[in-house]
Amino acid sequence: MKSSLSPIPANSPGFEFVYVANQRCECGGYFATVNQSLQGSPTHPTERVLARCEACGAERAFVFDISSFFGKFERYDRFQQTEDTFRRAMAALRAGKPAEAEAALREVVDPEKGEPAFAWGHYHLGRVLLMQGRAKEAVAALERAVAIQPLEPDIHRVLARALQAAGQKERAQRHLQRAEELKARFG
Ligand SMILES: [Zn+2]
Repeated sequence: MKSSLSPIPANSPGFEFVYVANQRCECGGYFATVNQSLQGSPTHPTERVLARCEACGAERAFVFDISSFFGKFERYDRFQQTEDTFRRAMAALRAGKPAEAEAALREVVDPEKGEPAFAWGHYHLGRVLLMQGRAKEAVAALERAVAIQPLEPDIHRVLARALQAAGQKERAQRHLQRAEELKARFG
């Protein structure tokens, strides 16, 4: 059973579920939470989430750093706010307002105000930056997304595009190959 080496930062319980539900198993399936247990010390609480792949049944444990909200009940609903900001960003993007979308997405992945381990936040931030011709910044955002969700073909594909735009052709090629290989494997 695989487990993350360092605790995943979470600023709300809602995000723990979202993080787990967005993780892909090696088989291509997605994980669903089975149970949660509190760990760590009173000054540095962590939560261990046991999850099971909905496709093949493989189990995986995730450990979250919950010290930013544990015991602070007014913070428990905070993911709602992050989701609203994310929706606002997507609406700005559709309306052709990349600067507005960028500002909202930076809030979505903000270490204090948002959820820094939200891969789709980094992914869309990368897309918005690329759209504005800021390839190097796009690469940085997309590399964070790919580190969080390494088995997502779409993230590798857009990272390849950003690398290409930044003049890193070999690395671009590697991520493009990875995207194709994952897509072929998952079907
Ligand atoms: Zn699986």
